[in-house]
Amino acid sequence: MKELIILGSTGSIGTQALQVCERQGYKVNGLAAGGNIDLLEEQARKFGVKTVAVFDENKAKDLKIKLKDTDIKVLSGANGVCELATEKADILLNSIVGIAGLRPTLSAIESGKDIALANKETLVTGGEIVNRKAKEKGVKILPVDSEHSAIFQSLQGAPAGSLKKILLTASGGPFYGKKTKDLENVTVADALNHPNWSMGAKITVDSATLMNKGLEVIEAVHLFSLPAKDIEVLVHRQSIVHSGIELSDGAVIAQLGTPDMRLPIQYALTYPERSDFAFEKLSLSDIGTLTFQKPDTETFKLLPLCIKAINEGGLKPTAVNGANEQAVKLFLQGKIKFLQIAELVEKALDSAQNKKDFGLEDILETDKTAREFVLSNI
Ligand code: NDP
Repeated sequence: MKELIILGSTGSIGTQALQVCERQGYKVNGLAAGGNIDLLEEQARKFGVKTVAVFDENKAKDLKIKLKDTDIKVLSGANGVCELATEKADILLNSIVGIAGLRPTLSAIESGKDIALANKETLVTGGEIVNRKAKEKGVKILPVDSEHSAIFQSLQGAPAGSLKKILLTASGGPFYGKKTKDLENVTVADALNHPNWSMGAKITVDSATLMNKGLEVIEAVHLFSLPAKDIEVLVHRQSIVHSGIELSDGAVIAQLGTPDMRLPIQYALTYPERSDFAFEKLSLSDIGTLTFQKPDTETFKLLPLCIKAINEGGLKPTAVNGANEQAVKLFLQGKIKFLQIAELVEKALDSAQNKKDFGLEDILETDKTAREFVLSNI
């Protein structure tokens, strides 16, 4: 029986991952969350875990009291989440949102565990370090993001060196077809109204700005070792073709499915095996038509901005990511308008210092500076 640790278990991916674990009969040894201790307590009791970790230290104290009738160990703070990541398991699923996922990923790699990675910000900010450490430790990084899972699935059986191009699909988000002037007064509720996927708030806003696709281009560069110029973003409104690849002989291979994250989660956990999928399967005759278009990079500037950042390399992707995390937080709090997200991220990218040789401390410092830049420019 596979043993797992799930970080971010109370979120959209985390709760779906637990459904997959239940169906597969996996043993869940540890769970971590930011501060939603009511749900975390329920999950910990249901799955009989050994350890839980809560980022918010006060909430961790409250959870300790709630769980005092059990043997469940409660860890707290960022260090507690990292400590949990080193505990015994075959695989760790990281579905924390934001750069907060980076250190726990590194801790899990250090302890020799394979990683099922949903937390794209890990690779956007620390891709070079993560890949280096994973190689050193012989650890697999298995993508959970649906697009990257689709690319990874399409690559199974492809000879080394035959990958020429990635076709990265994008739903286009709730504001597909809109121009800048139409986006001046859109609300938080408008931005959270994604047409195809039900996800956490941050990634849903990122889908509305197309920042999510920009982050995914960077993630793909690190996962599949292709430059950004060989990654073509295609707007595909139906979210059925989850992404694909072009091989050296021109063959295009893609993975299709319903828009249901439980499939890529399950594949990362069962890899290299396949297992029955207990949820709705795809019926192409019901879908009928699949369409593909180029993205509108004039209106949705964060996509080309992310490509600029990865082309410049070094700490630039961390700067756009940190500025975006802060700007999205402000937007969700109603403190800035939708269009200001891209304006602030662009300015933060321009002002960010870069370094080609860098370590974790430089990444964390660049993230902090980008957040402070956004806060002082609103
Ligand atoms: P959610 O906001 O729904 O969930 C985030 C999770 O992270 C929650 O469990 C939250 O805990 C926890 N968390 C937040 N901060 C910390 C912290 N500092 N330490 C420990 N745990 C923390 O996000 P999603 O599930 O939507 O997304 C998670 C990641 O997966 C993101 O990187 C996203 O880009 C990626 N992803 C998501 C997809 C989706 O369909 N949702 C698809 C592809 C990728 P709490 O509830 O207590 O706040």
